[in-house]
Amino acid sequence: MRRAKVTKVIIGVGHGPRKKGISGCGANHYSGEKRGFVRVMAGGRSDSGARTPAGLKTPEGSRTMYHIISIRDFERRDLDYLLDRAREFDTGEYLPEMLDDKLVALLFFEPSTRTRMSFATAMARLGGRSISVDSVEASSIVKGETLADTIRVVSGYADAIVLRHPKEGAARLASEFASVPVINAGDGAGQHPSQTLLDLYTIRQSMPIDGIDVGLLGDLRYGRTAHSLALALSLYGVTLHTIAPGGLEMPANIALELRERGMEVIEHADVQGAIRELDVLYVTRIQRERFPDSASYYNVASSYRITPDLLAGVRDRLMLLHPLPRAGEIDPAVDRTPYARYFEQARNGVPVRMALLHEVMK
Ligand code: ASP
Ligand code: ASP
Repeated sequence: MRRAKVTKVIIGVGHGPRKKGISGCGANHYSGEKRGFVRVMAGGRSDSGARTPAGLKTPEGSRTMYHIISIRDFERRDLDYLLDRAREFDTGEYLPEMLDDKLVALLFFEPSTRTRMSFATAMARLGGRSISVDSVEASSIVKGETLADTIRVVSGYADAIVLRHPKEGAARLASEFASVPVINAGDGAGQHPSQTLLDLYTIRQSMPIDGIDVGLLGDLRYGRTAHSLALALSLYGVTLHTIAPGGLEMPANIALELRERGMEVIEHADVQGAIRELDVLYVTRIQRERFPDSASYYNVASSYRITPDLLAGVRDRLMLLHPLPRAGEIDPAVDRTPYARYFEQARNGVPVRMALLHEVMK
C-alpha cells in the first residue's frame, strides 16, 4: 500500500489496548491509495465464488465503501494487510479519536458475548460510539419486519453495521440493502470472518502461518468459525487435519473447495491419532443450537475432550485455540499448560476489530 507521509506523534499514555506509551498516526495519514481488496469487496463475490453486485450500491457522491462478509472475498494479501494493521493497533500505533465522528450499529440477532463486546470495545478505543439491538425479541423483527427493511432503516442511523444473524447468507443479503458497510459477525452455520482474522493473528504471533499443520476438531459441519478459518488457511499452504464426530464432518462442498484451492486435507478418526502431528489444534464446541433435535445432539455430545494427559509428546510449539465459549471440550486443567492460548486469542479480538472498523469507516 502506498501510504501518505506518516507523522508520529506522542499523544499520551493510557488509551491503547495495552496501557503503554502510544505513538500514534493521525487518522488522515492513512488516506493513501485504496488497496486492491477494497475494490474486490466493493464488487462483492457470492459465496459460490461468482462475482455479484453486492455492495455496489454506493450512494452518489459518497466515498467508496465495502463489506466484510466472507473469507471467500479475501485474497491473501488482504488478510496480511489487515493483520499488519491489527498489529499496529495492538502496539498502540493509533490515535484514540480516529473514529470519533462515527457510529456503528451492532445488530445481534443471536447470542454473543465476546464478539459484541469486542466490537463495542474496539469502537470505544477509537473514540467512536455504538448503538445496539441485542435480540430478535427486542426488535421489530417480531412485528414481521424483514431484515432488508431493518438494514435500510439502520443504514440511516449508523456509519457501519455489524450483523450477527442465525441464517446463513443473512450478511450477504444485508449488504445488498445497506447504504453503509456491513461486517458479518456470524451468519448461522456460514461464516465468521472477524473471528478468522483474530485466529490468524494469534497464530502469527507465535509462528509464520505458511506450511504449518493445523487440526480442526469438533463440529465442522455447523461451526462457522471452522469454515472461515479453513478457507483462510488454504491461502497459506497449510495442511489441514480434520477430526469430527460422525455426522459433523466438514460439509462436502467446503472440503471439495479446499482441495480445489490446493489444500491437503487429512481426515483423522480421533484427536489422539492426530495431535502429535500438529502445530495448532483449533477446538470447537458442538453447535447445539443448530441441531434439528436434542436427541441428535446427545448422540455426539461429550465425544471429545482435551485433557492434560492427551498433551504428552506433542510438538513444543503446539497452540491450542478455541473461539469460545467452551462447553466441556477443553478440561480447565489444560489452561495452566503452555499450549493453552485461547484467552489470549479472545483478547486479540479487540485490535483485530479496531483494524476492521477503521478500515471500513476511515
Ligand atoms: N458465539 C458467541 C461469540 O463469539 C459466543 C460468545 O461469545 O459468548 O460472540
Ligand atoms: N463464538 C463462535 C461463534 O460465534 C463459536 C461458537 O459459538 O461456538 O461462532
